[in-house]
Amino acid sequence: MFADLHLHTCFSDGTYTPEELAGHARRCQLKAVALTDHDTVDGCARMTAACQTAGLEFIPGAEITSEFHGHELHVLGYYLDPQNHALQEQLVRFQAVRRQRIHDMVERLNRLNVPLAVESVFTLANCQSPGRPHVARALVQGGWCSSLDEAFERFLKKGKPAWAPKFKIPTTEAIELLHHAGGVAALAHPGLNHCDEAIAVLADAGLDGLECFHTKHSTAMTQRYLEVAERHGLLVTGGSDCHGMSKGQPLIGSLKVPYECVERLRDAMQRRAVDNSFLLAREPASSPPEPS
Ligand code: AMP
Ligand code: FE
Ligand code: FE
Ligand code: ZN
Repeated sequence: MFADLHLHTCFSDGTYTPEELAGHARRCQLKAVALTDHDTVDGCARMTAACQTAGLEFIPGAEITSEFHGHELHVLGYYLDPQNHALQEQLVRFQAVRRQRIHDMVERLNRLNVPLAVESVFTLANCQSPGRPHVARALVQGGWCSSLDEAFERFLKKGKPAWAPKFKIPTTEAIELLHHAGGVAALAHPGLNHCDEAIAVLADAGLDGLECFHTKHSTAMTQRYLEVAERHGLLVTGGSDCHGMSKGQPLIGSLKVPYECVERLRDAMQRRAVDNSFLLAREPASSPPEPS
């Protein structure tokens, strides 16, 4: 019994629709999947229905872009309420800045004599949370680059001429936001972050889990992060980080996360629900009367 707790769809920079992703998950004989699109929960409604049809257990989630002492860290949220007001508000802000960033990157490309039209990127992205992969695909489609890698290497990687900064919230704020939406928060792909010192600090600040299993982690890295998670009392999570066909072969099915991780996450979510209702009960229902 296995799960995949890190998956993207066309609601951010993945290429699969929720229905296609659920179909792949079923063929890979997964028992449970989580959707973790970048800075959006827009795909969760369709993924819920698609997983129901495919007979899969579904965990609504997101991958939130955050910053910790100058490092970009991604925080995975699981068992979120996609309707949560504060979460929705913050995601709308993320998405507005993501769209503006597409304009900024296209402007930079235009100044570099690449006459890419911003509309072609938005048409191709066709979602509220566009990112650099959409610009890269438009560059390939228009014949300016021969591959996504070339687009990133020549133009879009940090430090390259068309790169533009991204909106991030402090990592501790991302954790709070996810908790407030009923979710459990896990630090994504620590092996790619070059910021291991963040883990102890964030564990103290309420982080619940660590993504020990990830397709870009070596066996030694996975082992090390399993030990780190144990040391800091963090839940173990993991996933393929599949973006569909955007990077050649789909990654879904290539990493098998023990289903036990889902059971532990679910327990943590239930404990969180008790904490949240306790906090709500303590909040005064209305403001105290003004002194007369
Ligand atoms: P953004 O959210 O706009 O900063 O874009 C980051 C996303 O770009 C990551 O989540 C990956 O999906 C993708 N990405 C980063 N580097 C590359 C690369 N060299 N080739 C293809 N996709 C990449
Ligand atoms: Fe991505
Ligand atoms: Fe990530
Ligand atoms: Zn991801």
